Amino acid sequence: MDRYALIGHPVAHSKSPSIHAAFAAQTGQAMTYERILAPLDGFTDTVRDFIAAGGRGMNVTVPFKLEAFALADHLSPRAQAAGAVNTLSFRADGIHGDNTDGVGVVRDLIANLDCPLAGRRVLLLGAGGAARGALQPLIEAGPARLHLANRTAAKAAELVAQFQALAGALTLTASGFDELGRDAFDVIINATSASLSSAAPAIPDTVYAPGALAYDMMYGAEPTAFLIAASTAGAARVADGLGMLIEQAAESFLIWRGVRPDTAPVLAAQRATLAGG
Ligand code: NDP
Repeated sequence: MDRYALIGHPVAHSKSPSIHAAFAAQTGQAMTYERILAPLDGFTDTVRDFIAAGGRGMNVTVPFKLEAFALADHLSPRAQAAGAVNTLSFRADGIHGDNTDGVGVVRDLIANLDCPLAGRRVLLLGAGGAARGALQPLIEAGPARLHLANRTAAKAAELVAQFQALAGALTLTASGFDELGRDAFDVIINATSASLSSAAPAIPDTVYAPGALAYDMMYGAEPTAFLIAASTAGAARVADGLGMLIEQAAESFLIWRGVRPDTAPVLAAQRATLAGG
C-alpha cells in the first residue's frame, strides 16, 4: 500500500481523506491517505518522518504552504508562480512541490459549472495565498480581461506587477475596492478570507454584468455572505468552492498516481454530505 497524507494544523475536519479514498476506490489504486497534525513548529520534521516511514506524497494545508514551498527540492512552474506548495511528491531525486489550488478553481468553473473563461471579463477579489495561486491558471484560461481588486489596494498592485510578464497581451489590472464600479464583469471570484468571518467584501453592485457568475472559494452547508450579497446585487448564478476542493485533490491524485479520477460522483457525494450537516 502506498501511503499519502494531508499535513496541516488543524486537519481534523478536512474532507481530503474521504475524497482521496473515493478516488482510489474508483480508479483501483492501492493506497492509503491519512491526516497528520503537525506541530506548528514541526512541519519539516513531520514530513521527514513520513518520508522515512515510506510516505509517497502529501497534501499541505494551512499554515504550512510556504514552508512546503521552501522545503521542496524541485518546484513546478505553477508552484513557482503561486509562491506556495499544496502537493508534495517524494521521489528518488528528492521532494517535488506543486500547487493545484489554482487549477482547481479554473477547472471547477469551466468543467463543473460550464462557465468558460476565454473571452470573459474576470474579477478576482483578494491578494492572499488563494488569489496568488489562482492568477497563473486564470491568465492561461484566456479571459478578455482580468482585474484583481483587494481591500488593501497596494497589495493588489504589487501582486499584479509580479504577473504582468506572464499576462502578455491580456489586460491585467489592479485596484482597491473603492475604485470598482465603472466596469462590469462576467465572472467574479471571491478569494478573500472575508467569508471565514461571515463578511462579504465591500464591492459595488455594478460589478455584476448581466448573466454574471459569482464564485466563492469558501464552501459550507449554507451560502456564504459573499454569495448572498452577490445574488441580491444581481448575479445570475452563484457557486461555492467545494468543486475547487475536489478538483485540486484530483490534480494532486493525477500527479501522484498518473490517473485522473472522475470528479463528478465525488463532488455529488461530498455535496450531499455537506447538505446533510
Ligand atoms: P489569506 O489570509 O492569504 O488572504 C486574505 C485576503 O482576504 C487578503 O486579500 C485580505 O485583504 C482579504 N480579506 C480578509 N478579510 C476581509 C474582509 N473582511 N473584507 C475584504 N477582504 C478581506 O487567505 P487565503 O488566500 O489562504 O484564503 C482565502 C479564501 O480562500 C479562504 O476563504 C479559504 O477558505 C479559501 N480557499 C479555498 C480553497 C478550496 O479548495 N476551496 C483552497 C484555498 C483557499 P487585505 O490584504 O486587505 O488584508
